[in-house]
Amino acid sequence: MSLNAKIPQGPLAEKWSKHKFDLKLVNPANKRKYDIIVVGTGLAGASAAASLAELGYNVKAFCFQDSPRRAHSIAAQGGINAAKNYQNDGDSIYRLFYDTIKGGDYRAREGNVYRLAEVSVNIIDQCVAQGVPFAREYGGLLDNRSFGGAQVSRTFYARGQTGQQLLLGAYSALNRQIHHGKVKMYTRTEMLDVVVVDGEAKGIITRSLTSGQIDTHTGHAVLLCTGGYGNVFYLSTNAAGSNVTAAWRAHKRGAFFANPCYTQIHPTCIPVTGDHQSKLTLMSESLRNDGRVWAPKTVETAEKLRKNQLKASDIKEEDRDYFLERKYPSFGNLVPRDVASRNAKEMVDEKRGVGATGFAVFLDFSDAINRLGKDTVAAKYGNLFDMYYQITDEDPYTQPMRIYPAVHYTMGGLWVDYNLSTNVPGLYALGECNFSDHGANRLGASALMQGLSDGYFVIPYTLGDYLATIGPKPVDAKHPAFEKTKQDVIGYINKLLALKGTKTVNEYHRDLGHIMWEYCGMARTAEGLTKAKGLIAALRADFWKNAIVVGENEEVNASLERAGRVADFLELGELMVDDALMRNESCGGHFRLESQTPEGEALRDDEHFAFVGAWEFKGENLPEKLHKEDLEFEYVHLTQRNYK
Ligand SMILES: Cc1cc2nc3c(=O)[nH]c(=O)nc-3n(C[C@H](O)[C@H](O)[C@H](O)COP(=O)(O)OP(=O)(O)OC[C@H]3O[C@@H](n4cnc5c(N)ncnc54)[C@H](O)[C@@H]3O)c2cc1C
Repeated sequence: MSLNAKIPQGPLAEKWSKHKFDLKLVNPANKRKYDIIVVGTGLAGASAAASLAELGYNVKAFCFQDSPRRAHSIAAQGGINAAKNYQNDGDSIYRLFYDTIKGGDYRAREGNVYRLAEVSVNIIDQCVAQGVPFAREYGGLLDNRSFGGAQVSRTFYARGQTGQQLLLGAYSALNRQIHHGKVKMYTRTEMLDVVVVDGEAKGIITRSLTSGQIDTHTGHAVLLCTGGYGNVFYLSTNAAGSNVTAAWRAHKRGAFFANPCYTQIHPTCIPVTGDHQSKLTLMSESLRNDGRVWAPKTVETAEKLRKNQLKASDIKEEDRDYFLERKYPSFGNLVPRDVASRNAKEMVDEKRGVGATGFAVFLDFSDAINRLGKDTVAAKYGNLFDMYYQITDEDPYTQPMRIYPAVHYTMGGLWVDYNLSTNVPGLYALGECNFSDHGANRLGASALMQGLSDGYFVIPYTLGDYLATIGPKPVDAKHPAFEKTKQDVIGYINKLLALKGTKTVNEYHRDLGHIMWEYCGMARTAEGLTKAKGLIAALRADFWKNAIVVGENEEVNASLERAGRVADFLELGELMVDDALMRNESCGGHFRLESQTPEGEALRDDEHFAFVGAWEFKGENLPEKLHKEDLEFEYVHLTQRNYK
C-alpha cells in the first residue's frame, strides 16, 4: 500500500487556502444528520468536539477522567507559540515554519508545518475571545517569551499554567455545546476498540470505568484525540493515566503507526530520586529564558557537591561551566530540547553531574534575580518555583534548581495525511495522538499550538470533505462487525481477569520502563536495541503467565484498567525498538551513537532516511511491515542543524 499524504499542489503559502476551497462542504441542514465520535477531550479533543458541534454535527465525546478538565493538557506550563510578531523582533509565519522544520531535524512535512504556522495566529485570537487570561505587558498588549530553537519571542503564556487556562477555554466552548445538546459527554468511559465496517471506521467499543458496562457507539467518523504514549517509559512528565490504548487498538485494526521511536526527552525536569516514584515533574522550558544551565568544571568539585561538602553558591564563577552558552553562543540556554538534553547527559557521563545521585546539572537564577529583582522573577515563574520547593524542599530563589532530562512527549503516533485522516477512512487522529508536525524533535510551546490547530482550525474543514463523500445515511448498528468487536473486547477483558500470578502489573510497567530508558532512551545503539527487543519479548511473555489482576469487570477496577494499558505498552515498546533499530541515523530525539558528528551532534542520513516510517500491524506476534512516506523539501534546504 502506498501512503498518500494528500498534500495540496501549489505554492507553500497558498496550499491551505486552496485546499479549503477545494474541499467538499456539507450543507447546514445535512450536518445534523451526522454523528461524530470524539475520543479524548484534552486540548485537541475538546476544541474539535466544540467546533464540530458548533457547526451543527452531533458529537459524542469520551474521556476516561471524571471531567474533561482533568486531561493531561492541563499540566502544560510554559506557553503556546504563534507567529504574531507582536514583539517586532523579526518573526513571521515563514520563520515559525522554518524554525519548526529545522527544530524537527528535517523529518516533518513542509506542507503541514507551514499550515501549522499559518493557523497559529488564529489560535491566539480564538483563545483571547474565549477569555483565556494570557499574560500582558504593562501597556496591555499580550506578552511573549522565548522557547528553545527560536531567536524571537513568540510564546504566549499564562504564567506557568498555560495548558490549564487554554483547556478551561476549550472546556467552556465544549460545555456550551453540551448545554445545547449538540455534544453528549461520556466521562469515566474508556474506548477499548474501533469498529471497522468494510474498511471504514464506523464506531467504537467502550467500557464504563464505574460499572464495567461494555457499550457500542456508532458514528460516521471517529476522531482519536487521546494524547501521547510517553508513559511507555513508566517514568515521564506525563499524567500517570496517559496511555496508548486507543491508538494501539486502532493500530491493530489497520491504522499505521508512524515514527514510534521519536521520543522527546525534556532537559529540565526534577531528577529521579528512586524507584518509589510513579511520575516525574517538569520544570518548564520557559525557565531557560532566565535560568542559566551549568555544571562544575572539574570532576573533583562535582564530587564535593555530590557529597554535600560544598554548596552550589560556594562555586566561584570561574569554576562553573555554562556548557550550553559555551557550546552554542547564538542560542545559549535556549537550544532545542534534544540538544540541551544530550549535553546534560554528557556532563553526567563525564562525572560532572551534581545532586546525591550525580544525575543532575544546575539551572541557576541568581543572575536573573540580581538583574530583575526577586519580585519580577516570582511574577514570571512563581508557581514553578513553589512547585520545585514543595517537591525538593530546596529554595530555588537562594540556590540553583537541580534538573535532569526526562521523557516528556512523543512525536510518533498514528500516521495521518494532510486532512488528519489515518489510512483507515473515517478514522482521524488529532493532537499528540497523531505522528504530527514536529518531525524528530518538537520545539517547546508547539504541542498546544498543534493540538488546537488540529481541533479548532483543521478538522472542521477536512472532516466535512469525507462526510460529504459518504453521505448522511445512518450507520447500521446491526452490522455484525459491531457485535464481533464487542465480543473481542469482552474476551480480552476476561483474559486479563484470568491472570492470577504473583507479580503486579505496575512491576511489569516499571520493568518495561527500565528497558526502554536504558536502551531506547537518550542514546541508542544497534546492540542495545537488539538486546531490548529480546528483553521486552520475554517480559511480555512473562506478563501473560505471571501477572496478577484482581477484582472483577463489573466494578471500579484500577487493576484491570492498568493491565490493559500495560499490555498495550508492552507491544508498543517492541515496535518502538524495531523502529529505532531500523532508523540507522541520528535525528532529533532519536540519537544513534553510531551516527554522530565529530562534535557529538546528531548526524542524519538524508539519502537513506528522509522518510516517515509507518508501521502496519500484521497479526499477533508477527513482525510489522514498514511503509515509507518520502519527505520532499522544496523550500527548506536540508543542512546539518547548527545552533552555534
Ligand atoms: C508537564 C507538561 C508540560 C507541558 N507544557 C507544554 C507547554 O508549555 N507548551 C506546549 O505546547 N506543550 C506542552 N506540553 C505538551 C502538551 O501538554 C501535550 O502534548 C498536549 O496537551 C496533548 O494534548 P492532547 O489533547 O493531544 O492530549 P491529552 O491532553 O493527553 O488528552 C487526552 C484525552 O484523551 C482521553 N483518552 C485517552 N485514552 C482514552 C481512551 N482509551 N478512552 C477514552 N478517552 C481516552 C483522556 O481522557 C483525555 O481526555 C507539556 C506536557 C507536559 C507533560
